[in-house]
Amino acid sequence: MTCDFLALARPGVQKLSPYVPGKPVEELAREFGLRAQDIVKLASNENPLGPSPAVKAAISAALAEMTRYPDGNGFALKQALSAKLGVATSNLTLGNGSNDILELVTRAFVGPEHEVIFSDHAFAVYPIVTQAVGAKAVAVPARDWGHDLPAMAAAITDATQLIFIANPNNPTGTWIERNELEAFLAQVPENVLVVLDEAYTEYVETDDVPNGVDYLSQYDNLLVSRTFSKAYGLAALRVGYGISSPQVADAMNRVRQPFNVNSLALAAALAALQDEAYLIESRRINRLGMQQLEDGCAALGLGWIPSRGNFLAIDLGREAAPVFQALLREGVIVRPVANYGMPNHLRVTVGLPDENQRFLDVLKQALISG
Ligand SMILES: *Cc1c(COP(=O)(O)O)cnc(C)c1O
Repeated sequence: MTCDFLALARPGVQKLSPYVPGKPVEELAREFGLRAQDIVKLASNENPLGPSPAVKAAISAALAEMTRYPDGNGFALKQALSAKLGVATSNLTLGNGSNDILELVTRAFVGPEHEVIFSDHAFAVYPIVTQAVGAKAVAVPARDWGHDLPAMAAAITDATQLIFIANPNNPTGTWIERNELEAFLAQVPENVLVVLDEAYTEYVETDDVPNGVDYLSQYDNLLVSRTFSKAYGLAALRVGYGISSPQVADAMNRVRQPFNVNSLALAAALAALQDEAYLIESRRINRLGMQQLEDGCAALGLGWIPSRGNFLAIDLGREAAPVFQALLREGVIVRPVANYGMPNHLRVTVGLPDENQRFLDVLKQALISG
């Protein structure tokens, strides 16, 4: 007798589609017989600068202790974050990437009796963590591709336990301005958690985008999540953090795996936090590259969604999948976003100048021939 185990999975899990990551360079090299060094990957919003020397040195030093378990409380990194952010260490939760933070808060607070609100075209992890705990996912239609906060506030019911907001949002790059966030937070009942996902906050160079940390003293129901995967350049190591009231942090800590952040990641994040020059260079490269991509798209007659992140959602004005495939054949990996309800867009990560140029050149060819 055979057993259909998928039918045994929790109903929310049965309805889930797994997260689709950007195609790895090695996979494309295998599939198309290309050389890895000829491939440009602009698909996962990774930092194109490569690792900072200070981070590499910190990892080398940490290797000597590899036989030992990491510091399960992340004392040194929490101390450094506390000093940098002006919060107490009791406000901090470290995660195996900020995805871990999103999952921890959901597992600690949300069950099958609850609803979780997020926006259409928002980060794919929100429905995954929501449905994994059996809660009802409430996706609110977007406005101009961005979060419609008044509509999200109007979607709150007695069953609402948590609301995810990405600012800036991935994959759209859209952002929420200070007055919008303030009006929203003032409307949310104090027993409903608001998770403000600020994975791209280090790339924001304008002061119209709020810093979630500024609102923590006023709102005990606010959790701000941040990551070392993007501007800090540590995507492979998986380290992120949450900033919240001590009670929310306490609840998350109770469901956290004992050693969720490994010692190389802890050492690297500590070094990255102190490497201000790397962050400044990351922002500079991003600013230049964003302009280059926008200019290139304009020259091709293409539209895009204005972005405050390190990526751009480009509107091809037609189905993007064939163009994505044509780019792959030329060794350029970008991200199709049909699974985010955006079949005509491609999301392109801002790379180094020559990577951006290669993408634009190949895109031009693909549009002509496709
Ligand atoms: C990339 C990204 C993250 C970060 O994920 P990590 O687990 O920290 O690597 C979180 N939220 C959004 C919206 C992202 O795009």
